[in-house]
Amino acid sequence: MSAPPSIAFVGAGPTTIYTLCAFLNETTAPAEVVIYEDQARAGLGTPYRPGWNDPAMLSNIASIEIPPIEETLIAWLERQPRARLVRLGIDPDEIDDHAFYPRLALGEYFLDQFNALIDRARDHGVSIEIATHCRVTDIKAEPDGLRLSVAPRFASSSERVFDRVVIATGHLWPEEPEVRPGYFLSPWPATALQRIPAIMVGVRGSSLTAIDAAVALAVAHGTFIETDGATVDYRINPGAEAFGITMMSRKGLLPEADFYHPVPYEPLTICTTEAVTRLIDDESPDLLDRSYDLFKQELTQADPDYATHIGLADLALEDFADRYFADRAAVDPFEWAVSNLAEARANYETQTTVPWRYAILRTHEVLTLIVPHLDVDALERFNRFFKPVFVDEYATVPHLSIERLLALHRAGCLAVTALGPNHRINTHGKAPGAIVTVDGDRMHFPVFIDATGQRPLAVEQFPFQSLLDQGIVNDAGDGKEDAPKGIAVDDHFHPVSENPVAERLFCLSIPFILSRHPFIQGITSSHEIGAIVGADLARALTGGETSSPMTVEAA
Ligand SMILES: Cc1cc2nc3c(=O)[nH]c(=O)nc-3n(C[C@H](O)[C@H](O)[C@H](O)COP(=O)(O)OP(=O)(O)OC[C@H]3O[C@@H](n4cnc5c(N)ncnc54)[C@H](O)[C@@H]3O)c2cc1C
Repeated sequence: MSAPPSIAFVGAGPTTIYTLCAFLNETTAPAEVVIYEDQARAGLGTPYRPGWNDPAMLSNIASIEIPPIEETLIAWLERQPRARLVRLGIDPDEIDDHAFYPRLALGEYFLDQFNALIDRARDHGVSIEIATHCRVTDIKAEPDGLRLSVAPRFASSSERVFDRVVIATGHLWPEEPEVRPGYFLSPWPATALQRIPAIMVGVRGSSLTAIDAAVALAVAHGTFIETDGATVDYRINPGAEAFGITMMSRKGLLPEADFYHPVPYEPLTICTTEAVTRLIDDESPDLLDRSYDLFKQELTQADPDYATHIGLADLALEDFADRYFADRAAVDPFEWAVSNLAEARANYETQTTVPWRYAILRTHEVLTLIVPHLDVDALERFNRFFKPVFVDEYATVPHLSIERLLALHRAGCLAVTALGPNHRINTHGKAPGAIVTVDGDRMHFPVFIDATGQRPLAVEQFPFQSLLDQGIVNDAGDGKEDAPKGIAVDDHFHPVSENPVAERLFCLSIPFILSRHPFIQGITSSHEIGAIVGADLARALTGGETSSPMTVEAA
């Protein structure tokens, strides 16, 4: 009897978990699966594992929005012993499907779901081997499959050939973030921030990643005191009075508070998937502008008052983001945060949806479809003038995060600076940290943390060299300098290549596909990508056709 087909997963984070889940939901054939994970434990993913993250860091996705795996997050939380919940920083009496939980709690949920999937797989005749502490160092195409080179931490290197390979290596940052004295390339692993003394710290960025940095530093030098669930104060440790954070971004804005809206999303009426797909099929050079027209119509219909307020009818795409942010930019960021938080809380109380916010949130899921089809100039316009608005709407933050920022500010430990167009950040000088110059004024931060999140990475940084050498994985930008970075993948996440082996390979690594899938960073995206790839794997193993591509969105 011949061996069943084999599949390797490289990386064991949420994308692999959702892909495995979709595969098991659809497969009828036996298979041998090996999951390689560089870390000590498989099934946690980068943003949800201890050490990398501080226990105080919150997820920015409400429980209700997390696609279930073997069960929903709420069902899992409800059956946990109280002591486990308390250890995870969760009040057992306050479990709520609109709540945001600590990221480490999500990690434990994913881990338990991963283990439950493995049990289910065995019942289906799918054998699963978990290879932890095993880094895949190269992948090479051969006539009979894909050969993986594996470097286990505690054994000698080995090689193994698989029929299909799913690359889901996720986020990529150095394990040691302090890449130059006082200059941190990212706020992770959070443990690295604990050695920063109580001094003035500069943070580039003022949204989700910057909040991670601020929270990790704040709990190292003081305590958030959370009274009655609605008010938070910050008390600095004795001797740490010199501690302070300056967040800086171009506009100097803080993110807004998570806002009430129905889930699952209500359907759109004008800027629909069908309408946008028609535009894509037309192969029109005006794809972006025609999509913007649909967006304007949808927004106007959803909220005519808002449309009038921002003068939407006459607003060019190039002016939309500026107008969208203008009201907020005219007010002190902390004052805005106070009133925005009050509004968001009141709307949750009365279950009131702000129509324009909800319309923008939903349209981003449809407009993401056009991005792979935009030419380089249109992509640049999309990224500059359109994308920031969508990111602002979907990256709203837990109310507790806003409370913490306000508490730090009241305690005199947090300021936000707008860098504006005329600024320079020098992290390569003689002094540690960074020198920040804004309109000629110079500030020195002896510690400076880059907290702007995952950036797209260039093809040269793709970690599996043989796939590049063999022409199976190729540059998304065909080597052009101003083109988007990353690797070229098709609708099913196969690398775009003439080589037929590309059909056996799926590239789901976020930084390398981010340019053409700008909203891909999120648990809902892991779920949607997983649904496409899991179904394809199941069909491939039973000799069927591949599935239709789906929308890929972000949380
Ligand atoms: C700090 C942070 C916070 C976030 N918070 C949220 C949130 O609150 N809500 C939300 O919806 N989204 C959030 N995201 C988005 C995030 O993209 C997804 O939630 C998710 O982590 C993506 O899963 P993944 O499996 O693709 O990648 P990852 O979670 O990064 O997992 C990839 C895994 O692959 C392993 N690996 C990498 N290279 C190799 C190799 N060569 N060999 C073997 N193993 C390897 C890694 O060790 C890792 O475990 C956050 C992202 C970050 C960075």
